Parts: sequence; C-alpha cells; structure tokens
Amino acid sequence: MMIKKIIGEIENIKRDYPNNLMARFFSASNFSSLSDEHKKRFLRIINTGIKNPSSEMGAYAMYADDYELFSFQFDPMIRAFHNIPAESPIIQSNDWDTNKALYDLGAIDVSLKQVSMRVRVARNISSFPLPGAMDKSQRVEFEKLAILAFDSLANNPDFGGKYLSITPNTANTISNQEYSRRVASHQMFKDMSADKYLKAANISADWPFGRGMYISQKEDFIIWVGEEDHLRIMAMQTGGNLNQLFDRLHDGLGIIGDLLPSFAISPKYGAITSCPTNLGAGMRASLHIKLPNLCANDAKLLRISARAKKLGLAVRGAGGEHSGAGEGALVDISPSARLGVTQMQIMQTLYDGVSALWRLEKTIKNQENI
Ligand code: ADP
Ligand code: MG
Repeated sequence: MMIKKIIGEIENIKRDYPNNLMARFFSASNFSSLSDEHKKRFLRIINTGIKNPSSEMGAYAMYADDYELFSFQFDPMIRAFHNIPAESPIIQSNDWDTNKALYDLGAIDVSLKQVSMRVRVARNISSFPLPGAMDKSQRVEFEKLAILAFDSLANNPDFGGKYLSITPNTANTISNQEYSRRVASHQMFKDMSADKYLKAANISADWPFGRGMYISQKEDFIIWVGEEDHLRIMAMQTGGNLNQLFDRLHDGLGIIGDLLPSFAISPKYGAITSCPTNLGAGMRASLHIKLPNLCANDAKLLRISARAKKLGLAVRGAGGEHSGAGEGALVDISPSARLGVTQMQIMQTLYDGVSALWRLEKTIKNQENI
C-alpha cells in the first residue's frame, strides 16, 4: 500500500516536473523487483527528489556502492546530466597536464584579467558512509581524522594555514562572527540545515557537528569538511590564469590524498560523490563574472541559463547554487559535465564558454531580448 502510494507520487512528479531526473528515469518495475532491504535503501536515495519535486537531479547516494547497485536508476540520470550518449560507455579518465595550452582569461578581454576563479573537487573517504548515511559520532570522528591531515599540511611551507571548526566547543572552534565573515567571503559553506535538498537526504543532519574548513596561509587553498561530500578541496584566486589555478588544486590534492585514508574512486564513475552531478572528476571550475546585459534581472538570468546550457555551462547566482545574480549582475559560470570529461577538458569548456558569453554580453548591449 505504502509502496503503491510512493510510486503514484513519483508518477505525478514525472508528469508535472519533467526536469526532475529521478522521476524521469524512475521505473516502477525495477523498483518493485528489489528486495525489501534494497527498497528501503533506494527510498532513502530518492527521498530528496520526492520531497522536492523541482529538483534537477532528485537523488543522493548514501553509500559508495549505491551507484553500482542501483545503476538502473543512476545510469540514465548520469547520462542525461553529463551528456553521455547511450552508445558510449560511462567511464572516467583523468588528464591534469596543464602544459598543453595556456588558458589565460586576459586574452579574451583585459577586464577578465582579475576575476574571482575557483576550482573544487569533491572527495569521499571509502571507509565511511557518504554524508547522508553518517551518524553524529561518525561526522565528529571524520573531522578529527581530517584535522590530523591538516596539521601536516599546516607544516608544509607551500600551504601553512589553519583549521577552522564550527563543531561547538573544540580547540579549533571559531566564533559565529568569524563563521559569517568566512561565508560572506565565499570561503566557507553556508548553513546546510537551511537547504531543503540536503535536508531531505539527511546530509545536513547534526549540523554543525563535524563541519569546518582548512584554509592555507595565503587563503588560496581551502578544504571543506562535512558539507555535501566528506571533503571539498579547492583552489581560489583572483586573476586570469586558469592553468595556475588548476595546478594549485592538483598539487594540494596530491598532498592531502597522501595524508588521508583512500578516497572512494571507481573506474566507471570516477570520484564517488553524494550527488550524481559531481561524479567523475568531481570537479566544478567556476568564474565569478559580471554580465550586466545578459543577467540584469531574474528573467534574463533564466534566458541566459538556457543559452549557457548549449555551451555546456551552468549559471548560478553569486551566492552559489539556488541564489540569484549578485551586485552588478555578478554570476557564477561553470561547466556542467564532470563525468566522462578530463580536468583539461573542463578547463577548455570553461574558457570557450566564457569567451562566447563575453562576446554575447558585448554585442547585445541594451537589447531586451537575448
Ligand atoms: P560548490 O557546490 O561547487 O561548492 P556552491 O554553488 O555551493 O559551489 O558555492 C559555494 C560557494 O563558493 C559560494 O559562496 C559561492 O559564491 C562560492 N563561489 C563559487 N565560485 C566562485 C568563484 N569563482 N569565486 C568566488 N566564489 C565562488
Ligand atoms: Mg554546493
């Protein structure tokens, strides 16, 4: 009875919200053929897409092997999001060799020489469940393990820096004011308990326990602990040289990887992440740029999002996912595909996409319709 009701609910979402990929690819017969235990496990995965019909994805993995176990659901969602055609295998290969070409934003336009650039990868440790299935003690235990690695990083002259925790009453705990300041400067993540998508997947549970961030001395290398994935490892710089940004991330990732237990990595899915959008390279490379002609208001932002999609890019607001354009039409542009593409291809897509959007921004001056 209960199962029938849920299937009915998903069928309604499939009809009313065609962009909800979970509902689009949900198959009642596949679901019904699962054992009772796997049915339960599956329902936890898709709960976020049922509770939030307007989800674009609508599913979060709880354990690293969920992707293999429920591939009948995940694979079509993954193909749709990462743009992998049915005849191609799902496979991740890596290429971090930034010596092949120079991606200098200043070559597109001098005013792009000083933009805020960020590239992050998501990583999870294979010996822990993914965040949606962790309990409070595991979250706290995981943070302690990460702190040991950060202590070594802090002793490395190329990194230095410190760990800032928001777990109450620890040696590293920061004040509410410092937390707010770090969020406003885009270094620290927002209050996850306010995010309905993460909440429905239990990913934001026990907030703020087990959460914090490492930040390097120069504030150009940051690692989030306990957000949507165990770790979000990122390089952030103001400038225009994407190669330099990617190299900083790659070097730091290698060092931190050696200091921690092994990451969950699959030959097929690449880095295993909570959200299927982040599999593969696990990488989101983004630029904060002002596009006043293209993104002056919400309606324009929507239209430019459709246009950017054709370039393989997603447009987010200046405050991150689910936010609106910021001061001066500041938006966040990043390649959508992260699986089935190498790190170098992601950089290429970002560079080419920004070139195209920039040209458009300059040519449509003052026109209402884009
Ligand atoms: P992700 O999921 O990749 O971590 P979010 O959309 O959740 O990204 O945003 C996280 C934070 O990173 C937000 O504060 C956002 O404004 C910030 N951010 C993203 N890209 C940039 C950038 N290029 N420069 C500065 N801040 C950025
Ligand atoms: Mg995010």
